[in-house]
Parts: sequence; C-alpha cells; structure tokens
Amino acid sequence: MKRIYLSSPTMHGEELQFVQEAFDTNWIAPLGPNVAGFEEEFAAFLQGGAHTAALSAGSAAIHLAMILSGVGRDDIVFGSDLTFAATVNPITYVGAKPVFIDSERDTWNMDPVALEAAFERYPQVKAVICANLYGTPAKLDEIAKICRAHRVPFIEDAAESLGATLHGKQTGLFGDIGIFSFNGNKIITTSGGGMLVSRDETVTKKATFLATQAREPARHYEHKEIGFNYRMSNIVAGVGRGQLKHLEEHIAAKKKIYMQYRDAFSDIPAIRMNPYLEESEPNFWLSCITIDPVSPVKPLAIMEAFDKENIECRPIWKPMHMQPVYAENAYVTAKEGSSVSEEIYSTGLCLPSDIKNTEADMERIIGVVRSFFS
Ligand SMILES: *Cc1c(COP(=O)(O)O)cnc(C)c1O
Repeated sequence: MKRIYLSSPTMHGEELQFVQEAFDTNWIAPLGPNVAGFEEEFAAFLQGGAHTAALSAGSAAIHLAMILSGVGRDDIVFGSDLTFAATVNPITYVGAKPVFIDSERDTWNMDPVALEAAFERYPQVKAVICANLYGTPAKLDEIAKICRAHRVPFIEDAAESLGATLHGKQTGLFGDIGIFSFNGNKIITTSGGGMLVSRDETVTKKATFLATQAREPARHYEHKEIGFNYRMSNIVAGVGRGQLKHLEEHIAAKKKIYMQYRDAFSDIPAIRMNPYLEESEPNFWLSCITIDPVSPVKPLAIMEAFDKENIECRPIWKPMHMQPVYAENAYVTAKEGSSVSEEIYSTGLCLPSDIKNTEADMERIIGVVRSFFS
C-alpha cells in the first residue's frame, strides 16, 4: 500500500533555478543575492510595513527575538502551552524561565483570559511568545493589547501560520517581532530555515547583525557583543524564493483538504475539526480533529489504524506543562484546575494534510476514520 504522508515538501522546479544561479555565480555563502531577494520578496508578501531577516532556522529566530526583547538570566517569559517545544525552548537558551499559558477552545491558542491572570501573578514578566497552532491565528488583537497595556514585548510565533490572516492582516505582524520557519514539513520549505520579521527596521537590522557573529562594521574584526552564526545560506534562500511563488497555491490546496474532511465528517457529531475565528483565514497547514470524550472511539485507536494502513498521522502536540523537561515550570489556566490544552491533547489528532494526496488517498484516509463510527 502506498504511503500517505502527514505533510511532506512539495517542490515545483523553480527552486532549482535559483539554486542553479547560486552555483553558476559561486554564491555559496551565508549571504548573497538569493538571501537579499528572499528577504525582499517575503516582506512584499507580508506587506504591512514588514522588515525581514533571513536566518538558519525558526528556532534561531526565536532565540534572537528573546535577546532583542531584552530577556536574560532568571527572567520570566510567558509561552504557549499547547505548541511544539521549539516555541519555548529558546526562552531557556538565554537563561530565562518559561511560564506556560493555557489554550482557549476557539482557536486552540493562548487564552487571553489566562494570559491576563498570569500578568497578575507574575508582574515582572519580560516577554510573551504565542504560537498560531497548525496555521490558525490566535486571538492576536487581544493578546497584543494585553501585552501593550503591560508594556511587555509580544513575540508572535508564526512558524506554522505563514499566509494566514486575521481580519485581512498577515500573521507574524501582530507582535513586536514575528518569526517564521521553513523546516521540511512547513507550508513552504527551504529544507531548513527561518525568518525574523518586524515593522521596526532597527529590530531586523539588529537581528542580522547578531546572526553574523555581531561583527562590527570595521575592517579589522571588532566585536562589542556576543553574536551567533544564524544567517541563512544563499542556496537555501534560493529554494525559499522558488517556494514563495507557490505559497498561495499551497494554502488553497490545504484549505481544500480541510474542507473535504469537514464535509466528510459533518454527519458524525462526535468529530469536530480544529476551529478558527470567523474573522480569520487560517493557512490550514494541518487539518486536525477532536473526538468527543464521551465517544467510545479514542484517538489512539484511529492512529493505530492509520499505522496499519501505512498512513502517517500525528497526535496533537503534547502540552509543555506535561513535558518532563518542564516539570518544574508554572502553568496558568483561566479556570483553576481545568486545562483546555490537556483536553485538546487527549481528544485530538492531526490528519494527513499533504497537498500531493490524491482523491483516492483522501478517500482511504476518510474511510479509516469513518469505519470507527459506522
Ligand atoms: C517548526 C516550528 C518552530 C521551529 O522552527 P525551526 O525552523 O524548525 O527551528 C517553532 N515554532 C513552531 C510552532 C513550529 O512549528
């Protein structure tokens, strides 16, 4: 049986032309015309006065965002609880401590009510980082407003949500700093890479500076700060330029998958798709479902059935407050003793959302799920 993937890279050929150009001109370096071109084209796509710094990974972008937000040793940073660990791990790179904020049910992202409660408990907090899970915009206006009221920088982890909008505005631009990832399974990929964005050009300029070993503009090698080797390579940026041309097409294909699942399960009351706000347009990176906890059908049974059918699937990210490595860290919920992220984790799963899946593949996937409810 043919393997069906969760979300594998989709290449178009144009990527190779940019890479070929890099070879032809011998721009095999962590800078060059593809890097500059990718940064420019990415900013043009985002609009909204975006400035951009291409980096080696989304995680590197988050690390620099922490430094640029003034986060340091023993500081507290609020982070999404229900997310991939890469959202919050960089908090620890600067010696700070994450405090995890629970999700709400409308978008599965950081709950503004829990965030407000956390500000009361930890008024000394230095920054907030919130992810747009699976390509669905969080309640970004509310979160940004709360952060502004407390004069704390807001970092938007848009690694999964490139191209998603909230009332027409691109994700990544709601915070003081936004970050994107081009890892292998993201909606567009460069094999690996990231972008730091901001409406403030001094921020992206400083990011590029720190990513280039904080080398001062002097003939001799002068350093006044500790820097990093986080620049994106000119080859990788070529892949990104080719991919960016197909982003809208990828989003349309992802949306089609989501809508097909939604329609296919609409007669099964126990199944709900991952929700989004009416005023938002997700990029539909991964289609997910939750199953009513009173149903005898459990997500694990469906995942095991997928395994047997050679279909790749994935549980919902395991919440950060449940991770052994973060066992000592605080976790704030809107209602004492009630965890929304745990509820989503225990009742949900990610369905295959690969845009190369055929109609027959989709039918196979839907058939596996439906077989549990007939
Ligand atoms: C992929 C991802 C990252 C990290 O990006 P890398 O490029 O893999 O370092 C960060 N946050 C979220 C939510 C992600 O999904």
